Amino acid sequence: MKIRVNEIPSGGISLSESFDAAPWKLNRQDINFDKPITITAFVTREKENLLVDAQINLVILFTCSRCLKEFEKSLNKSAMLFFQLKGENILDISDDIKEEIIVDYPIKILCSDNCKGLCPSCGRDLNEGQCSCKS
Ligand SMILES: [Zn+2]
Ligand SMILES: [Zn+2]
Repeated sequence: MKIRVNEIPSGGISLSESFDAAPWKLNRQDINFDKPITITAFVTREKENLLVDAQINLVILFTCSRCLKEFEKSLNKSAMLFFQLKGENILDISDDIKEEIIVDYPIKILCSDNCKGLCPSCGRDLNEGQCSCKS
């Protein structure tokens, strides 16, 4: 998301943008973005200080670390971002938004807290029932 610094009126400006978040994919298989991300922001400027009150909405496609099933989880968060301008006309805040999303990644990705995972010998999804392997 890019902010045109010179176009911010004294009372602030409301910006909204939807874009494909797929290029934000990190170097991991278990977190994907297959839906667009929407950012709504209210931007105010006080001399060289820029305050962005952002609302981030996106759907993340996770892969469960135990059963390897894919599941979607929506992330809706608000973030207050502060920038010190250094003479730029256009400020790209995409990286900062990305940071806000990354800090909310779960440490352990599970489709549910009591996911039973896969049987280590036959690979059956134990959430769907017991397999006939001896445990
Ligand atoms: Zn699972
Ligand atoms: Zn089994």
